[in-house]
Amino acid sequence: MTYHVTITRCQSYDPDAVRSAVTASLEPLGGIGKFVGKGQRVLVKPNLLASRAPEAAVTTHPTVVQAVVEEVQRAGGVAVIGDSPGGRNVSSSYERLLKRTGMMGVVEATGCEWVSFDDSVVDVQAPDAKSFKRFTVGKAVTDADRIIVLPKLKTHQLTYYTGAVKIVYGYIPGLLKAEYHLHTGTDAETFSDLLLDLHGALPPTLAIMDAVVGMDGQGPSNGNPRDIGLILASENCHALDLVACSIIGFDPMAVPTVRKAGERGVGPRDLGEVLVSGEPIGNVRVRDFAKPRTMILARIPPSLVHAIGYLFGTRPSIRRGKCISCGKCAEGCPPKAIRYTKGEIPSIRYRHCIRCYCCQELCPQGAVEVSYPWIRRMVG
Ligand code: SF4
Ligand code: SF4
Repeated sequence: MTYHVTITRCQSYDPDAVRSAVTASLEPLGGIGKFVGKGQRVLVKPNLLASRAPEAAVTTHPTVVQAVVEEVQRAGGVAVIGDSPGGRNVSSSYERLLKRTGMMGVVEATGCEWVSFDDSVVDVQAPDAKSFKRFTVGKAVTDADRIIVLPKLKTHQLTYYTGAVKIVYGYIPGLLKAEYHLHTGTDAETFSDLLLDLHGALPPTLAIMDAVVGMDGQGPSNGNPRDIGLILASENCHALDLVACSIIGFDPMAVPTVRKAGERGVGPRDLGEVLVSGEPIGNVRVRDFAKPRTMILARIPPSLVHAIGYLFGTRPSIRRGKCISCGKCAEGCPPKAIRYTKGEIPSIRYRHCIRCYCCQELCPQGAVEVSYPWIRRMVG
C-alpha cells in the first residue's frame, strides 16, 4: 500500500501565506471537499498543551487553525475547535487558554464553536485494539462526523516525538490523562500502544501539521522554537509522522508510535511506502534538530528501561529560581510522586516517579527541567 503525504513550504505565520499553504497542501490529496461534506460537524483539534503564547511554539499556531477552519466552512462543514490540556480544567483556565493561545481570536474571526472535552465525557469501546479496549473521551469527539487534527512538530520526553498520532491523547479529558499514564508507567512502548489503540478507535479523517515553527530539544513545552517553514498534510497520521521524523533527522524506527504502526500494518514501514507530493524530503531536511535527552532510552531494550532508566536515565527536576509554587505539577502527577505544600517549592520522590513528564508539560513557568541523576553525571 502507498500512503500519500504532502510537504508545502510556508516561511511565516502571515495569515495569507498560511492560507495558501494549507490549501496547496490539500490539493494533491483531493482538496478539502474530499474530506468534508455539507452540514457535517467537523472537529478541528489543535495541540493546546498549555496556556502559552503562539511564539513559544508549544501550541498549534492560531493562523494555521484559522486557515483550516475556513477551509472546512468553505466546504460547507460546521467547524468546531476542541481540546483538553492535562490537569484540572475549569472555565477560568479555559478562558486563559483560549486567550493566550490565540484560539479566542480564531473563534471570533470565523464564528466557529469552541468545545471543551471536559464538559461531557463518553466511554468508547475499541474491540479491535491490541492492548487498551476502552477509553473515556470528550463527547465532542464522538459527536463529530469528521476529525481533523492539527499537530505541532515537536519533540517529546516520553515518546521522543509528538505529532499526528500523539495528538489524539488530547481526546482524553485533562485529569483522566493521569490515570492512563499510571497504567502505562515509564514505558514509552506501552504508552505508544495506548496511543495507537486510541487512534485506531477514533481515527482522524485528516492531519495537517504546523511545522512552520517547531520545537526541538526538551519538548513538548521546554524546548527551543525552531524555524522549519513547512505545512505537512496526509489522510494517514502514521505516514505523516514518518515523513516528519525523516525531515528532522530522527530515525522513525526509534519512535515507538511510528515503528509500531508499521508493525501493526496501519502505517508505512519506511519511506519507500510513501508518495510525497510538493517539496521532496531531501530539499527540506533540518540537519541539527536537537533530540530530547530521553531519546537515549530508545536504544535500550524495553525490559531494561526501568532499571537502567532509574539509575542512569533522565528525570524531572524543579528549578527553584523559576518555580512560583503554584502546585500544578503536583496536582497533575499521576502517581502523586510530587510532594507539595502550599507556598513552598515542591519536591519529587524519584522512587515513585514514572517519568511521564506530565509535570513538565503542566508547569506554566518552565521550571521543570529534564536532567540526569548524579550517578550518570559522575560516569559521564
Ligand atoms: S514527577 Fe513528573 S515525571 Fe515523575 S511521575 Fe510525576 S508528573 Fe510524571
Ligand atoms: S514546578 Fe512549575 S508547576 Fe510545579 S509548583 Fe513550581 S511553577 Fe508550579
